Amino acid sequence: MSSSKNNITIPFNQPLFTDDVFEILAEVKAQKKLSGVGPFTKKCETFLTETLGVAASLLTTSCTHALEMAAMLLDIQPNDEVIVPAFTFVSSANAFAVRGAKPVFADIRPDTLNIDETKIEALITEKTKAIVLVHYAGVACEMDEICAIAEKHNIPIIEDNAHGLFAKYKGRYLGTFGVFATLSFHETKNFSCGEGGALLINDPAYIERAEIIREKGTNRTLFFRGQVDKYTWVDYGSSFVLSELLAGFLWGQLRMWQDIQQKRADVWNFYNATLTDWANANEVQLPSIPVTVDQPSHLFYLLLPTFEKRESLRKYLNANGILAVFHYLPLNASPMGESFGAAKGDCPVTESLSDRLLRLPLFYDITQDQLHYIAATIQSFDF
Ligand SMILES: *Cc1c(COP(=O)(O)O)cnc(C)c1O
Repeated sequence: MSSSKNNITIPFNQPLFTDDVFEILAEVKAQKKLSGVGPFTKKCETFLTETLGVAASLLTTSCTHALEMAAMLLDIQPNDEVIVPAFTFVSSANAFAVRGAKPVFADIRPDTLNIDETKIEALITEKTKAIVLVHYAGVACEMDEICAIAEKHNIPIIEDNAHGLFAKYKGRYLGTFGVFATLSFHETKNFSCGEGGALLINDPAYIERAEIIREKGTNRTLFFRGQVDKYTWVDYGSSFVLSELLAGFLWGQLRMWQDIQQKRADVWNFYNATLTDWANANEVQLPSIPVTVDQPSHLFYLLLPTFEKRESLRKYLNANGILAVFHYLPLNASPMGESFGAAKGDCPVTESLSDRLLRLPLFYDITQDQLHYIAATIQSFDF
């Protein structure tokens, strides 16, 4: 990053270390269990299951791995098709592609940047085995319409809810609509343990097999619960268990979740209030939040009128010590997307918005001084 003339360097994100992090470390030491599926894992999973109202929550090593588990649980096979938005992180597609499935890319809505529900039905074929949704910035997709389409064609929904833990659609938590939902606890997300994730299960019929897949294809979890008298290889699986150390770190954040969400909401609201007039005067679009949703203040972004303006504002902020960053490149135009027959031009809304989007710093420990400096620097940009 360029050094700033004011020597202010504001990162895009800064990991949160809770005040009790060393106490938790001491507790992990005292419990004499460092591998996974121990007391801290149980605390996190029980909390997620009860708060969200899902059938089960399994902590995993990442959101990517939780998506891979969902693909295994649905027995995704070569030549199956999976509908996925073009504007998302690669894992939303890759978790299915590694099993031989073909990702079929849907374009997004220009307002919420979520999958365009009116484009889904035309992409469904007899090979379609899942619809993957991403609630971009934790702002819910149009769930009434999408659930109706999925039900009509009997296709399971998987919510990649990496952004939207504790967000809601019409009063109902995201992650409770799909047969599965996945969470990310990567450093850049609202709640984090560096690298981590969770699989949320809404159909209890999948719980036992999910535990087996997470434990390398063994029935170890059943064994520890005393439900079988020895554990052995019973199914496909891999190593998706999160260490107790990371589960403890995560618990330190989950138990103060309302404080974390409030702090992020304050930052988001500051940006929104401070930049509205500036945005209107300069043809900049701020995030649009439908009245039906509660959003989790995961991202605050600007949509500039052109790619060139986005790039000059981004460089201007970086030169002034503020790390503002763009986001996903359209998956349809990526080398892997092209290998599945997609091409640049397939998803024009995704391609345009990807070029024009700029995310502002947003993290728990950001200070008032930093926020005022960021807003003033943006307002001083010469269009
Ligand atoms: C961050 C992210 C992921 C990947 O999460 P990991 O925990 O790093 O695997 C997947 N999907 C979306 C939408 C994300 O933002």
